[in-house]
Amino acid sequence: MNAEILAVGTELLMGQIANTNAQYISKKLNDIGVNVYYHSVVGDNPARLKDSLLAALKRCDLVVMTGGLGPTQDDLTKETVSEVLGKKLVLHEESLQRIKAFFDRINRKMTDNNVKQAYLPEGCIVVENNNGTAPGCIIENNGKIVVMLPGPPSEMIPMLDDTVVPYLKEKSGYRIVSKYLRVFGIGESQLEEMIMDLIDKQDRVTIATYAKDGQVTIRLTVKSMTEEEGIGEILPLQNEIASRLKDALYSTEDEELEYVASKMLLSSNITIATAESCTGGLISARLTDMPGISKVFKRGIVSYSNESKMENLGVRRETLERYGAVSSETATEMAEGVRKIASTDIGLAVTGIAGPDGGTDEKPVGLVYIAIAHDSGTYTRELRLAGNRNRIRNMTVLNAFDMIRKYVMKLKR
Ligand code: ATP
Ligand code: MG
Repeated sequence: MNAEILAVGTELLMGQIANTNAQYISKKLNDIGVNVYYHSVVGDNPARLKDSLLAALKRCDLVVMTGGLGPTQDDLTKETVSEVLGKKLVLHEESLQRIKAFFDRINRKMTDNNVKQAYLPEGCIVVENNNGTAPGCIIENNGKIVVMLPGPPSEMIPMLDDTVVPYLKEKSGYRIVSKYLRVFGIGESQLEEMIMDLIDKQDRVTIATYAKDGQVTIRLTVKSMTEEEGIGEILPLQNEIASRLKDALYSTEDEELEYVASKMLLSSNITIATAESCTGGLISARLTDMPGISKVFKRGIVSYSNESKMENLGVRRETLERYGAVSSETATEMAEGVRKIASTDIGLAVTGIAGPDGGTDEKPVGLVYIAIAHDSGTYTRELRLAGNRNRIRNMTVLNAFDMIRKYVMKLKR
């Protein structure tokens, strides 16, 4: 939000008083993140005041005016503003009572022209004045805000501090805007190296990375007035990082990898069937987390035993005997088998040694094969995962979804 401070008073132009109100208000507005773009001063002249206000409304979101709210003939701020904004001045009964009470307190008789001060633009927010007679007001009009406060600093300052500043803070308070970039397949330290120069020169947009479960999240944060402004400020840095990480970056919206991959299958209408050995159905479970996935997820087979691999997926006995259940060859036949049985675009299979037992020197715990079968051929990946059984299984699931994601991207190209 940006603002203009428009002081009204011939005294200011004559050099009789200094515009200390503008200085005070500027400081307060800056404290809450409102950019003050203009200070202007106009005399007690309706035509010039009108021009000044119109100019201010044209170039700023907020106009804070001081002066000219008094009871005398030359105090015409309210009248002029109301005319410009097309608002009627209506009697504010509570303000009239307050003005009466004020005169009682100081033991003076209220004059008729003080009643004028209780007239305020229709629909405004009244700013109480506890140190004088003239109430101030806040008017919201066509996306702009006009604030009117009395001239005397002893009145203006408490009204600004107690009512106007909290109101503006609420309206346009700073917000912390963050974007979360999710990365798979690059370790945290390697990733940090890739963007070290950006981290070193980070300024308004700060960069933080954290790793969890084989994935790294980059958080880009900026303090900003609005969500859109913050997003806009983050965007150039986000784009630079994206161009460096290429397809390792799978989401700029803090989404899970499984979700992103499932969404891609759905949106490109690519059907899939899965055959799982060491993950025992975890991939199926993750796929079915996605509402509506039945449109593309046609079958999920858990084939933990060799018998099941042969009977349910058509894996050949020779393949199992020659290469073993955990092999690229078996993974390939599993993927091709399930794809054929379910008549899908893609067949996905995983087989591996999750431990803690069953590892050998040649085939250690953590050895996993993932295969994706498609019309155009079958693609396999060998993984060497570290960690306990739980981690190995979870990392297998993530890698499988990452392969799905990249495969669908390739198919779409
Ligand atoms: P009043 O109820 O006193 O008539 P008002 O809202 O009509 O208040 P003005 O008549 O313009 O305000 O000014 C009243 C007094 O307030 C001035 O004589 C001056 O002392 C002080 N004042 C007005 N404007 C400013 C300003 N911009 N900076 C500092 N002091 C100001
Ligand atoms: Mg006055």
